[in-house]
Amino acid sequence: MRRADAVRNLGTAARYSEAMQRIKQPGDYVLVVRGMPRGIVMSCPDGCGEHVVINLDRQGGPAWRRYTSGDKLSIYPSVWRDNGCRAHFIIVRDRIYWCGSDGADSPAQVEKSLVFAVLEHLNHVTPLHYETIAASLGAIPWEVVWACAALERAGQASEPKRGYFIRR
Ligand SMILES: [Zn+2]
Repeated sequence: MRRADAVRNLGTAARYSEAMQRIKQPGDYVLVVRGMPRGIVMSCPDGCGEHVVINLDRQGGPAWRRYTSGDKLSIYPSVWRDNGCRAHFIIVRDRIYWCGSDGADSPAQVEKSLVFAVLEHLNHVTPLHYETIAASLGAIPWEVVWACAALERAGQASEPKRGYFIRR
């Protein structure tokens, strides 16, 4: 099966077993909700046929953050299967970007308004982590780090320490 380049929302389920039965194509996912969102069950987007569980419930161990904008899903941090196919990818606004030894897929264009907001947020003195900036702006961390990279290319920011950015 081919790798998926986007996820597909197949609704919600109360149980993981029910979610697993519903997913078919690579990238299909079901949100498991019991009182609150508990996790995402996804058919592995690389097409290996296995399923990936993305925990969203902090009570249940390490959890991912889920962002929804419109109906589109973003997940932070990356999903990295530590067994089987070892797929490693990020999800931003329903799109899947693959990470790997050949480097991450090139990022999408970010909106100019976000790049501007990030620039306004940076200062000349204290390097800020992109997660901190994302939390302040209510933005998706991946898009903030892409905005930082765009500012770096434009000579308006630099990254003195991995993930930390300062205005130039
Ligand atoms: Zn896989």
